[in-house]
Amino acid sequence: MYSDKIQDLLEENNIEVGDRIKVGSREGVLMPKPSTSSTDTLIIKLDSGYNIGLEPKDLELVSKKQEESIEKTEVPYSDDKPDILVLHTGGTIASRVSYEKGGVKPAFDPEDLVEMYPELTDICNIHSEVIAQMLSEDMEPEHWQQIAEKIDEVKDDYDGIIVGHGTDTLGYTGAALTLMLQNIDTGVILVGSQRSSDRPSSDAATNLHSAVKFLNETDFNGIGVCMHSSSSDNECIILPASKARKMHTSRRDAFKAINKEPVGLVNTETGEIKEEFDKNNRKYKPSFELDSNVGYLKVRPGMDVEELKFLIDQSYNGLIIEGTGLGHMPVNSFDENTEHHQEILSKVSEISENCLVVMTSQCISGRIDMDVYDAGLKIKDAGVIEAKDMHPELVYVKLMWSLGNSESLEEAEELFGQNIGGEVTERSLYHE
Ligand code: ASP
Repeated sequence: MYSDKIQDLLEENNIEVGDRIKVGSREGVLMPKPSTSSTDTLIIKLDSGYNIGLEPKDLELVSKKQEESIEKTEVPYSDDKPDILVLHTGGTIASRVSYEKGGVKPAFDPEDLVEMYPELTDICNIHSEVIAQMLSEDMEPEHWQQIAEKIDEVKDDYDGIIVGHGTDTLGYTGAALTLMLQNIDTGVILVGSQRSSDRPSSDAATNLHSAVKFLNETDFNGIGVCMHSSSSDNECIILPASKARKMHTSRRDAFKAINKEPVGLVNTETGEIKEEFDKNNRKYKPSFELDSNVGYLKVRPGMDVEELKFLIDQSYNGLIIEGTGLGHMPVNSFDENTEHHQEILSKVSEISENCLVVMTSQCISGRIDMDVYDAGLKIKDAGVIEAKDMHPELVYVKLMWSLGNSESLEEAEELFGQNIGGEVTERSLYHE
């Protein structure tokens, strides 16, 4: 609750939480007082989506809040429209601001979706199911399994599936679904949004609409990601999910495909669709097992042998080394500052005796090639294998999946090298 002084001021001006107000020169929607802020500061949500605290001076009511309708919006159904299932996992895409309680609240029912995105009903019959209600930074590998198992269970009942997902770890889930649902015969598109649906610059509706359009109008079968293709609103891009990576903290076109071309483009103004994929006709092969006993090491100047000793103590079944450049780490000793590098190499060799150790690159784009420099050759000799053109997060997920679906490290190594769902390219063309 705001202080009595503020409550009186609000009453005098006929202002309630949820109303649009002016405080001096700033305009926005009055939010309830968060537990962490002072009772003497007014919190308003600006049109940019950010909340700010202001001194309660020069208050003016701009407009009263729109009452939330108690009656649920009707969800239309038509036999001649495709049936699209929206599976919710949470994130910004499935939330809207609650002016009663503050913060965001989930909107999961088909009724909520129709109310928030009415234009979807022009192109499909909406169905929805909740798998989770979380920010994606809280996702665990078990959640990837739950999503994959749900898709496997219901895929034949729908013409396409949308997975609403927070953007932070959407790329990891995309990789996991691609591997777990190998050669899936339905189109599944992960959709996120960088700005929630109550913000004027929200990308949620456009991303959702474009994903449904792509599912409706193409033969896409596989796992994709749909987000904005540039900072403007006129085009969405469909990316191969295993290669999609969040490359910007806040831009609406944050996602890019690493070492791979997009699967398609949807022009949101003309409705034109460009598809750039070959339909996969191989046999569907679901496999949900994962072994998450996997460690991760980021190479950098100043790294210490102790870290490798720690990794040995963990008895990991898999280890990702995120190396520099083509796949390197400090393994050459030539002065007093580099004496420990030799020991780093011998520890890597020790780890790789009972653990599948994979080298990926912090360059993100490009491919690992440990045959170019002497350092790479030494690391390879120590038992480390190359992640080819797979980027670090994909490598992390694929290593868990390969170990989970194998009886031995040799088998896991073999599986890890295979191209399961378009995530590995055997040769890379040189791009400037
Ligand atoms: N942190 C949020 C999440 O990844 C951001 C978003 O919803 O996109 O779930």
